Amino acid sequence: MNNLNIETVVKALKSVYSIDRGFIGLHEPCFAGNEWTYVKECIDTTWVSSAGKYVDRFEAMLADFTGVKKAVAVVNGTAALHIALKLAGVEPGDEVLIPALTFVATANAVTYCSAVPHFADSEERTLGLDPHKLRDYLKNIARLNSDGCINKRTGRRIKAVIPVHTFGHPVDLDPLADICKEYKIEMIEDAAESLGSYYKGAHTGNRGKLSILSFNGNKTITTGGGGAIITNDEALGKLAKHLTSTAKIPHRWEYRHDEIGYNFRLPNINAALGCAQMEQLPKFLEQKRRLAERYQNAFQDIEGIKFFTEPPFARSNYWLNILLLDTAVSDKRDEVLEKTNDNGIMTRPAWTLMHRLPMFKEYPVMDLSCAESLAKCLINIPSSPFLVEENA
Ligand SMILES: *Cc1c(COP(=O)(O)O)cnc(C)c1O
Repeated sequence: MNNLNIETVVKALKSVYSIDRGFIGLHEPCFAGNEWTYVKECIDTTWVSSAGKYVDRFEAMLADFTGVKKAVAVVNGTAALHIALKLAGVEPGDEVLIPALTFVATANAVTYCSAVPHFADSEERTLGLDPHKLRDYLKNIARLNSDGCINKRTGRRIKAVIPVHTFGHPVDLDPLADICKEYKIEMIEDAAESLGSYYKGAHTGNRGKLSILSFNGNKTITTGGGGAIITNDEALGKLAKHLTSTAKIPHRWEYRHDEIGYNFRLPNINAALGCAQMEQLPKFLEQKRRLAERYQNAFQDIEGIKFFTEPPFARSNYWLNILLLDTAVSDKRDEVLEKTNDNGIMTRPAWTLMHRLPMFKEYPVMDLSCAESLAKCLINIPSSPFLVEENA
């Protein structure tokens, strides 16, 4: 029996929310702390731009929360990825393994380095890169030489892999790190969606040579637009700061730059928002967890659909909550999207898989059967922290 009653799905969703508002968005920002005070101070003191105490404070708060040695605040997560790839040694013509199931920024950043995205499959347990399938694939297509890992089919070097902690759920990093070591591939974690998510007790972003965060308006915390490069390699952290601030040599009045740098600094006024948001992050995470628990209970006994829960080795931030349709009823997905949105509950399908986008069509792919299946069955549902009241 493979049935799906869409009215039941809508009812279950409605039963979860303890607030009453017209339309429930997917992930809305929440400014309930010191945002107004800090931003006003930037304006009152005129320190709104590329220097100021909030940038330093925000970077320190990020490093402290994630447990990394250095955090560098930048204009957005995409720029952070671009610079992280460069600093990991990705050169023009290199290939970078990334999941086909990701937001377009991951693939775009690879091409900004004139490198080639190579699309890999995901696993159902984590929705992220499948390390075991990747190992089998590399056994077939890769060989090692003095340059590193060479793709025998294309002749290009495979320089890096970007695990994406999809919708906040951590990738299985241990076996992936083993593969990276064996094949001399650098790991860069795309933790844009996973601020507050832990893999085996360590915050995501600690395993990559460099990793990145995003503070776009729909993420767990927001600076309007913003991102960060995080790393446990202090020398690389320093280089990241240098490269994202026009590669200027610090001096009281002279303007000298020692390489082609980027103007990717996060303005102080955005960092002020970030500091106020970081103060509330533990509360947001608690609220989001409570919301996820409510979803799990509400969908426990509903036929044809299930609520996705964190992998066994992880504690997830549940950034964007997920319903997965049974494959037998995946043809009902669009009807679910329509009915929920008609009822004032915003839902969305997974991103179009990267290898299906016109600009990435010609790039190398492995078998993507799991990503294809997930993309057909996945529905994102409202995830703002304030949807469930304290005592509801
Ligand atoms: C949000 C996001 C980014 C970075 O996005 P920006 O909007 O540039 O901050 C990168 N990767 C993933 C998976 C994301 O969700």
